[in-house]
Amino acid sequence: MTQLIAPPVPTTPGTAPGAVSADVLGGPWPATARPGRGADLLIGGVGLAEAAERFGTPLYVLDEAEARGRARAYRRALPHAEVLYAAKAFLCSAMADWVEQEGLGLDVCSSGELWLAVSAGFPAQRILLHGNAKSPEELRLARRLRVGRIVIDGPAEIARLAALVAADTPQKVLVRIVPGIAAGHHAAVRTGVGGQKFGFPVEGGDAADAIARVLDQPGLELAGLHCHLGSQITSVEPYLEAVDAVVRLLAETRDRHGVELPELDLGGGHGIRYLPGDEELDLAEFAVRVTDRLAVRCAEADLDVPRLIVEPGRAIAGPAAVAVYRVLSVKHTADGRCFVAVDGGMSDNPRPALYGSPYTVRLVGRRSEAGETRVDVVGRHCEAGDVLVRDAALPADLRPGDLLAMPASGAYQLSMASGYNLVGRPAVVAVKDGRARLLIRRETVEDFRLREVGR
Ligand SMILES: *Cc1c(COP(=O)(O)O)cnc(C)c1O
Repeated sequence: MTQLIAPPVPTTPGTAPGAVSADVLGGPWPATARPGRGADLLIGGVGLAEAAERFGTPLYVLDEAEARGRARAYRRALPHAEVLYAAKAFLCSAMADWVEQEGLGLDVCSSGELWLAVSAGFPAQRILLHGNAKSPEELRLARRLRVGRIVIDGPAEIARLAALVAADTPQKVLVRIVPGIAAGHHAAVRTGVGGQKFGFPVEGGDAADAIARVLDQPGLELAGLHCHLGSQITSVEPYLEAVDAVVRLLAETRDRHGVELPELDLGGGHGIRYLPGDEELDLAEFAVRVTDRLAVRCAEADLDVPRLIVEPGRAIAGPAAVAVYRVLSVKHTADGRCFVAVDGGMSDNPRPALYGSPYTVRLVGRRSEAGETRVDVVGRHCEAGDVLVRDAALPADLRPGDLLAMPASGAYQLSMASGYNLVGRPAVVAVKDGRARLLIRRETVEDFRLREVGR
């Protein structure tokens, strides 16, 4: 594979002629964001407009320092916990390398994620497999690769997994429980309450029954309990409630079966900033209060404190990437609206269409003296709902050929990308210290054609 290296671009932040204003710093932008020459915006020392010229658009620019820095921050904040990066937010071999080198484990939810990680050299013992509907093939692959832990999510899985396991090489498992806690920004991603497909509800006794059944299987080593409340949670409170609920169940398990389970997995869902004024989950506060609460509740229940596991996905990958699009058309309608259409959309970022997720967007690579106006940034797909940013504040003289950058694009965009309209998925470049390297090439129509084997 050819490595495309960008030369470092010298800059004097804030003073270069035509520099973007310093308000890009902070908020949802990576910490390395700096004004660049010619109104470019540097991420990891690489100009976004320059990268767009070199690699084409839409382009996902992944800041290695931001991803690694966030992984490292988790390790430091929770030195006694195990931190597993949730691969479903975004996974490629480089990402697997970075989180592995920063001391994290990996949480995967399919044989695809599992295979990619292990092929990249990620140690299988540090991988946890979860999912509400794991196929027999997935479970067999997980066993063959010797994954560290498997999360049991439904009754059928207990027997299915037990049948694969010889008693002399037991499989470490967690039971996923539903603690009955509503948290998260959107009903579609709330997984801590009943009435959704994941886990065994505590209420009504399903969780206790599953625990009893797993304990009955000699091939399954029940290491602990798992829960995952949802996504984009910015307050610590729901996690404290989850600690209470899980510790109650750990105490009940001890009382009923005489076993103290050594692990407690609180899942992920840690919220990030998408808009400049947004709150994110405060990692330091999370670490202190969850650790304290766990110690207090265990002392009250006379339990040894289990090892805490957390599974952040979005909080590591989300802020690390910026999506760059090229404007293809600017349309003013008779009723006074303005639609700015770009060369990507719901096929590379389905989140706005799926959840109504908000984003901020900015012009890069050209200085505009025009005042701001309100426009809808829309995608290029044949779907009226293909809107990326509603009511975005952008220069009034925006025109075809301009480049728009959207921060906080690292999680649940590429990993949810589709082949809609045969547009093909964007390229991904990693940037670091002024150099850019292509990680994933752009998907072309030839890739679609190559999968065809009949007509
Ligand atoms: C999705 C998921 C995560 C990660 O969620 P984020 O919102 O990306 O932090 C962690 N654990 C489980 C079980 C999940 O399903």
